[in-house]
Amino acid sequence: MSENKRDYYDVLGVDKNADGDAIKKAYRKLAMKYHPDRNPGDKAAEEKFKEANEAYEVLSDEKKRSAYDQFGHAGVDGQGFGGGAGFNGAQGFGGFEDIFSDLFGGAGFGFGGTSARRRGPERGSDMKININLDFMEAVKGTTRTIKIKRKKACESCGGRGAKDPKDITTCSVCGGSGMKTVTRQTMFGVMRQTVVCDHCHGEGKTINHPCSDCGGSGIVEKEEKVDIKIPAGVDSNSVLTLSGKGNTGRHGGTTGDLYVYLNVKKDPIFKREGDDIYVDLPISFAQAALGAELTVPTVDGKVKLKVPEGTSSGKVLRMRNKGVANVNGYGKGDQYVTVRVETPQNLSKEQKELLRQFDQTLTDKNNKKGQSFWSKVKSAFQ
Ligand SMILES: [Zn+2]
Ligand SMILES: [Zn+2]
Repeated sequence: MSENKRDYYDVLGVDKNADGDAIKKAYRKLAMKYHPDRNPGDKAAEEKFKEANEAYEVLSDEKKRSAYDQFGHAGVDGQGFGGGAGFNGAQGFGGFEDIFSDLFGGAGFGFGGTSARRRGPERGSDMKININLDFMEAVKGTTRTIKIKRKKACESCGGRGAKDPKDITTCSVCGGSGMKTVTRQTMFGVMRQTVVCDHCHGEGKTINHPCSDCGGSGIVEKEEKVDIKIPAGVDSNSVLTLSGKGNTGRHGGTTGDLYVYLNVKKDPIFKREGDDIYVDLPISFAQAALGAELTVPTVDGKVKLKVPEGTSSGKVLRMRNKGVANVNGYGKGDQYVTVRVETPQNLSKEQKELLRQFDQTLTDKNNKKGQSFWSKVKSAFQ
């Protein structure tokens, strides 16, 4: 796209050193000349107009202008205002509003893309709630009943806004379209603009005796209990979507969704990563040396675990399928048990004596790691 683009300074017909005022002036001249409302159906003029707008977007912004000066079109493309975005592009409007409020003294100005639209059925807005769960609630699933205030169709009038349908009449000002056309004298000449009908506020109809419960809007806010089924295996940052449990839209629109953001509390014993569980298991020196069958906690209750003879501290033992059941039904995670050998403290005289006796019986065969460590140290310092 960049190759075919004209130089922005050429587009506006200004010097490379032109100041902001000169750029604005040049752009105004082009905008007035090529504005689509002055050249209806003229594709060439529309292209010129877009081109001028794009050039002005870049050259009127110090940052973009310096990027353009350094790197050409490549420096400013892909930032949302480049080629193709055109004058209806959301990003392309900053400079525009500026200049047109200059031109029209702040009067609102409807371009093609921003003209008024009749109000049809509106989709109701989505709602968001946060729910805090205990660790095990997330693992096992639970049901929460919450109270939320939702916008719902008024039952008294069936969402129409009047209890008697005869009280709803077509707007006499806009004839039901919800819009009206106004003409305005501008620097471009007389312009026609479509605006929302101020008599019916775009509804296209007027209500003679509005429903007393909803004031004619057809919508009431109601506190409601919602049962939220939280499936087993959810975790923090899980989001549940309850479709149709958000706000109901006006004018017979559909109902939005309810998003439930979950936050899971930490557990003092279990740490969770995905569907896997991590547990630190303290064992005694004798259990580590001799091996032991221990009972360890899992999310499904206590389970026997064999600690092999001669287990070192820090060793991780894997318990298959003892983790969390996957929320999407893809089996279960594992539990990883990290063995922490506890060094005995507060020993009595007798215990100390026994340990000394025991220590003297140890040979290289018993402490292989220590043996190899000290031999490495020895050879390193020789
Ligand atoms: Zn109207
Ligand atoms: Zn009502």
